[in-house]
Amino acid sequence: MPAPDLIVRNATLPDGRRGQDIVVTAGRIAEVRPAVAAEAAQEIDAAGQLVTPPFVDAHFHMDSTLSHGLPRVNRSGTLLEGIALWGELKPDLTAEAIAARALEYCDWAVARGLLAIRSHVDVCDPRLLAVEALLAVKRQVAPWLDLQLVAFPQDGLLRSLGAEAQLLRALDLGVEVVGGIPHFERTMADGAASVRRLCEIAAERGLPVDMHCDESDDPLSRHVETLAAETVRLGLQGRVTGSHLTSMHSMDNYYVSKLIPLMVEAELGVVANPLINITLQGRHDTYPKRRGMTRVPELMAAGLTVAFGHDCVMDPWYGLGSGDMLEVAGMGLHVAQMTGVEAMRACFDAVTVNPARLLGLEGYGLAPGCRADFVLLQAADPVEALRLRAERLAVVRAGRVIAAASRRDSVLTLPGQEARRVDFRRRGDG
Ligand SMILES: [Zn+2]
Repeated sequence: MPAPDLIVRNATLPDGRRGQDIVVTAGRIAEVRPAVAAEAAQEIDAAGQLVTPPFVDAHFHMDSTLSHGLPRVNRSGTLLEGIALWGELKPDLTAEAIAARALEYCDWAVARGLLAIRSHVDVCDPRLLAVEALLAVKRQVAPWLDLQLVAFPQDGLLRSLGAEAQLLRALDLGVEVVGGIPHFERTMADGAASVRRLCEIAAERGLPVDMHCDESDDPLSRHVETLAAETVRLGLQGRVTGSHLTSMHSMDNYYVSKLIPLMVEAELGVVANPLINITLQGRHDTYPKRRGMTRVPELMAAGLTVAFGHDCVMDPWYGLGSGDMLEVAGMGLHVAQMTGVEAMRACFDAVTVNPARLLGLEGYGLAPGCRADFVLLQAADPVEALRLRAERLAVVRAGRVIAAASRRDSVLTLPGQEARRVDFRRRGDG
């Protein structure tokens, strides 16, 4: 057997196992057990700290990220002013500017151990500039980060002229997930029709679905019901995700008791976006103000895969954020009042293993045979990682350290290798 390329010594794993050595050969994890005798070309002393599979963001908008303030800031901070602002910005967009901002964000993401992102990309611009730009970015960052793209008809599949043809063109170009926004169509009936049509397109093409669904405080916004029913009708179980689902927060409890079993039958994936939902929902309320996040603990208890997404970073909808999925999970934990020990661990899963399942990532995890992608955190366990928004001491991709903390008191020792951050802009095609 050839010498391993990398051994991480004395790691604690998210499941609580301590003193584990992680042996990496040819970009894959070969072994995970205590006290491995072999020596490797490169060794990292984890010193008992937590090694986790990378963070995964199941819901993002890479085409608008880092555009905050262009052409002006969102004064009200509302969803509708955000959509209007994006409309003002669109005519002035260039593929180069979109790609440059996306690459900058990927740089931030990698530095924070976020190595897989599902991004919606607006297909309502007839030039498909953002699609073209993000497909190029996806290829460019592939050695470091998995970028999965969703064809997203931001202005409505039926409401926006030509949206279906553009969505199909985006799929032809290589966008791999079918998106939608039924609550933005003109009527409930149009919303349901858009869900049906989009699920049929996904079934015909063998693609997954991930829709913005019921991002509303209206308890009668029930497109998730149609999404689940169409999933079952077309045999798409396990391939369909409902993002946001904020109207579920305001729905009648009796109706929800019928809805959740239907969602379970459809094996629907769920993505809540806590930073965005807590700021955008409940805006028409006086007091008490609703929180407007979907029913995360109840959906988890029903056995559904629930992830937390970042959704926005410094764009027309949200002027904050930094690509830190521990901040996202921390907000989700607080909004959902998931402060029990098991519940906090479930919030850590909601930014790691759960979104990895929704994205269908191959070889994700810390078992032998998995891709050697992982993050060394300055924390003893997942709950401490959440509490501290723990520093990323080292980020490893396919067995190579691609980002590392530059702190002098870092426990990390990398013989012959200087601590550095990946910078895609300088690296070109790598
Ligand atoms: Zn979104």
